[in-house]
Amino acid sequence: MSGVIVVLGRQGSGKGTQCALLQQRYDGVVHVSTGDMLRDAAASGTALGRRAEAIMAAGELVPDDVMCDVVAERMRPLLDSGVTVLLDGFPRTPAQAASLTKLTAPGGLLGAVLLEVDVQEVSERMLARGRHDDTAAGIARRLELYETQTAPLVAWFTERGMLKRIDGTGTLPEVFDRLTAAIGGLVPLRLSR
Ligand code: AMP
Repeated sequence: MSGVIVVLGRQGSGKGTQCALLQQRYDGVVHVSTGDMLRDAAASGTALGRRAEAIMAAGELVPDDVMCDVVAERMRPLLDSGVTVLLDGFPRTPAQAASLTKLTAPGGLLGAVLLEVDVQEVSERMLARGRHDDTAAGIARRLELYETQTAPLVAWFTERGMLKRIDGTGTLPEVFDRLTAAIGGLVPLRLSR
């Protein structure tokens, strides 16, 4: 069965790391990270990349219409191919959530999982990881946008009975086990050989 599982959580909550591991460990699971897509575009100097670069460096959000087009283009072939998509970094605003609903067939949006890690801990994790946009000011701005723009999506998915909350603290394998259990409740998982 093909479908989309949205992975929500503050920046630095471990979404990217955990999703990459899930993709590696299970057949037919594809990790789509909009942050990775934009960073790749910036590295290859495409029109999208050039536009996104300064926005990302400042910790602001790329405009909804641009993001929705980019995601639709990436997702359509995946949705037709029958895989399970772990969507990391999208939707980030209510407008993006509405766009995702339109993009997925009825029943194709399988649910959302929220990796819960508090602000203090994600700030420390991001400063330690030291990515290009992980400056103190950039981190503060991204976390502020998370609270104003993205946190309302937690209510959006909860109202639809689609949200599973996961404790994102502890070791990487501990969080992986919790996440696998939650996702396994939404879609059958088969270990890769
Ligand atoms: P991330 O790796 O998900 O934290 O994304 C890094 C940066 O890419 C963000 O700070 C935004 O500037 C941009 N970005 C990623 N996904 C989105 C999105 N869905 N909407 C708008 N901007 C995004």
